[in-house]
Amino acid sequence: MTLPGGAPAADARERSLLAAYAQSSSETAGRRHLEPPHPYRSPYQRDRDRLVHSAAFRRLSQKTQVFTGDLGDYHRTRLTHTLEVASIARTLGRALRLNEDLVEALALMHDLGHPPFGHAGEDALSERLSAWGGFSHNRHALRLIEKLEQRYPAFPGLNLSWELVECQEARIHKADSLWRPLLEAQVVDAADSAAYDTHDADDALELGLIRLEDLLETSLWRQAAQRVRARYADLRGQELRRAVLHELIDWQVSDLLRSTNGRLAEFGIASVADVRRAPLCVRPSAEMREPKHELEQFLFLRVYRHPDLLRVRQEAQACLQELFDALLSHPERLPEAYLRRAAEDGLPRSVGDYVAGMTDRFALQEHARWREP
Ligand code: MG
Repeated sequence: MTLPGGAPAADARERSLLAAYAQSSSETAGRRHLEPPHPYRSPYQRDRDRLVHSAAFRRLSQKTQVFTGDLGDYHRTRLTHTLEVASIARTLGRALRLNEDLVEALALMHDLGHPPFGHAGEDALSERLSAWGGFSHNRHALRLIEKLEQRYPAFPGLNLSWELVECQEARIHKADSLWRPLLEAQVVDAADSAAYDTHDADDALELGLIRLEDLLETSLWRQAAQRVRARYADLRGQELRRAVLHELIDWQVSDLLRSTNGRLAEFGIASVADVRRAPLCVRPSAEMREPKHELEQFLFLRVYRHPDLLRVRQEAQACLQELFDALLSHPERLPEAYLRRAAEDGLPRSVGDYVAGMTDRFALQEHARWREP
């Protein structure tokens, strides 16, 4: 059966839409395990779909981004943050004429390896695994996509295209990477930063950890509020806050586009090979970097180090570490696949994999179960 479209149509579509420096799907380096091309989905569409259908992706819905579930129900989870990043990244990708399917797949993958309870959980697992190489969410994401996800009979992992695996490798070996990430990957990192700088502040406001007046003392929020007031002079409180949030995202995205187009021209980028050799192209402008840094410092001191969060952090860490210790001394209570892999990867790593894969809620339930007499 010949389907309308098919690979040649997808190639023609990309040729008409993508810039010369975009990663086209016909130029993919392929997958570790050979698979026939799909009749009507491009390789990166397929990667995106595999990510969406993975168990690790679904579990993002009950994993902490910054604030745990018991603080309220307004704030972002790891999943909604991921969707916001994908939305911003696609806007950037389309405006820059990059490969949107690849951008979306990379965005959906970008936080896949986070354990329960965000960075508190990561630190707790890293401490318990310190004698076995520690734990990092970036390394864990690579294990997930290459090994732990078991969804297809023909191969372990998701067998994603090389460009996604390479992006994840580059996150791990950032410092000694020989070449620059694809623009599609650079766009996702920039979108991630725009999203969390804005949304962590919004969530913290909603949860009452900080006040709008405090945020308006940072230059980014002050300037955004001025821009809003130029159009709507009388906005106050909640209305002002929402308008400033929109302005902040819009302003950062516009700034990224201007700055990136400038750098693409400055470095004479005309191909993927040029992207690989040039300095990072997707960066905020010099004028945006300073106030962004100031906001991040503010968030670090006033939000991430807030006493309410530090208390939750301690409880979360105790929960994960006690679970880890209990499973290490009773490996027979591990699910079968983890027990099998323990023979290959060592019991501590496999226990770490299992605990890291849990949602916040499941970790708390399991922890409570272990404490039952
Ligand atoms: Mg993120």
